[in-house]
Amino acid sequence: MGRLDGKRALVTGAGAGIGRAVAHVFAAEGAEVAVTDIAQDRIDQVVSEIEDAGQKLGRFLSRLSQTRLANEVAAGEGLARACPTCGRECKIETSQRTVTALDGPLEIMEPQAHCPVCRRDFFPSA
Ligand SMILES: [Zn+2]
Repeated sequence: MGRLDGKRALVTGAGAGIGRAVAHVFAAEGAEVAVTDIAQDRIDQVVSEIEDAGQKLGRFLSRLSQTRLANEVAAGEGLARACPTCGRECKIETSQRTVTALDGPLEIMEPQAHCPVCRRDFFPSA
């Protein structure tokens, strides 16, 4: 995805200014970033900012994936997924529910499948 996927970077002076900006850009481009600075509190702040951005991206991609799957099901494409226990193809249906995310309540359309053989519900991955 990023131009620096699979790369590792050591960014000195990453607590402020250009070093901080470089650490953010390298992380956003997929690099594993090690950061140093003379001020530990500034490093803690930069690491926290980078981790927050990563978590936001993860939540966004998860919502995108779930929404796409829910839309395909709603469009009547008759999607099915294999049951993780017995392997039987099971029809996917969606239900709306509210979950509590880090940034507040979130309405989601959640795809879910039911296996009549195993008598269990499971979450199909996209
Ligand atoms: Zn099953």
